[in-house]
Amino acid sequence: MAFFKCVNMLIIIFIFFLCATPIFSDSSSTNSKDHLAIPKLLELAKEPQVFDWMVDIRRKIHENPEVGYEEFETSKLIRTKLDELGVPYKHPVVVTGVIGYIGTGLPPFVALRAEMDALLMQELVEWEHKSKVPGKMHGCGHDAHVAMLLGAAKILKEHEKELQGTIVLVFQPAEEGGAGAKKILDAGALENVSAIFGLHVGPNIPLGEVASRSGPMLAGGGFFKAVIRGKGGHAANPQHAIDPILAASNVIVSLQHIVSREADPLETQVVTVGNIQGGGAVNVIPDSVTIGGTFRAFLRESLTQLRHRIEQVIIGQAAVHRCNATVSFLDDKIPSVPPTINNDSLHDYFQSVAGSLLGIDKVKGHHLLMGSEDFAFYQEAMPGYVFIVGMEDVSVERLRSWHSPYFKVNEDVFPYGAALHISLATRYLAKLNQEVPAEDGKYHDEL
Ligand SMILES: [Zn+2]
Ligand SMILES: [Zn+2]
Repeated sequence: MAFFKCVNMLIIIFIFFLCATPIFSDSSSTNSKDHLAIPKLLELAKEPQVFDWMVDIRRKIHENPEVGYEEFETSKLIRTKLDELGVPYKHPVVVTGVIGYIGTGLPPFVALRAEMDALLMQELVEWEHKSKVPGKMHGCGHDAHVAMLLGAAKILKEHEKELQGTIVLVFQPAEEGGAGAKKILDAGALENVSAIFGLHVGPNIPLGEVASRSGPMLAGGGFFKAVIRGKGGHAANPQHAIDPILAASNVIVSLQHIVSREADPLETQVVTVGNIQGGGAVNVIPDSVTIGGTFRAFLRESLTQLRHRIEQVIIGQAAVHRCNATVSFLDDKIPSVPPTINNDSLHDYFQSVAGSLLGIDKVKGHHLLMGSEDFAFYQEAMPGYVFIVGMEDVSVERLRSWHSPYFKVNEDVFPYGAALHISLATRYLAKLNQEVPAEDGKYHDEL
């Protein structure tokens, strides 16, 4: 009997210590026990019941890629997994979007974002889980993003009682040109969220490292299409025609002068005409020519100015050649995206959290990227931070870049992504609670 009492006492002491060492502890605390908790998180995410679970989810999504606003099966799989975990969610939010909640259900709210959409491209990687849908591929790693956020959810749910607020899991549709982020915000799904974090897998950054920067990270951009109309006729009698091909040629050359002659040489901007269609015969002047292209910049004002000047130059230069031009910025089909600008204080916060998880030597800066990312819409609405999680292991292979038909994901990145999600969100909730107690009314208690 005494022996059993002794065992009971030992169990009580053991449980006490388990409870006393929360896994989501803040390394800014002086408690030395807390410093041990953060690396444990990575180990936890590497355990087979989490790692294999993430790999299985990612491979299922990879085999069945779905493009923007058509992520029905992906969304269903996410909801099935959230149901298994007992995580409540809202659905549908913007067609296929799913918003999950883990924590107290009360403020503060911190969001983590994963995109769900694939690309219209043919996968050329030959492997067991190759895309089964011709002409569609997860060539940007969004399948991995969904798997890592679900992996984070699995661990978070098991430690839900330790959370000091609510973590909002944003499974977002249509990042690739569909501005899904903007629609999630327009739907009012994130109104009282205090901050949002997003990650992107990086094929050319070593596994175990992360990279980001403060301020501008990715360019903002938009697209345009113009129809230049003249008057068709015989190529041998140009005097009876109005030649839209010559007009289009001068329009394209003049568009190149906007950046080279009007933009500050110290500021990065791009205007590219990537599409031209006009004429069908070598001896006919056509009625019209269509051109299309894109423009990029790192400042919102510069994007507005580029948009204004592109329209002016096309119409003006067409008029020089007696042509009419109409310009569309395709806002309904491929909406413009603002520049992705990382919040300065979140950058400091990220460095501290990622540094304690991975080691400060693994937290690197990143150069500006001319591509764009609809995470920028969230950053216009609330403090937001996006970063790249490295997945290249050169001892195995060099990885191709995003949107390559040979793009591959090194699944060993999953524990890093999941652990970063968890530590960024949980410690931010703790930080918010330290700064402003929820009782003082700063936070709204509805999402
Ligand atoms: Zn992409
Ligand atoms: Zn992407």
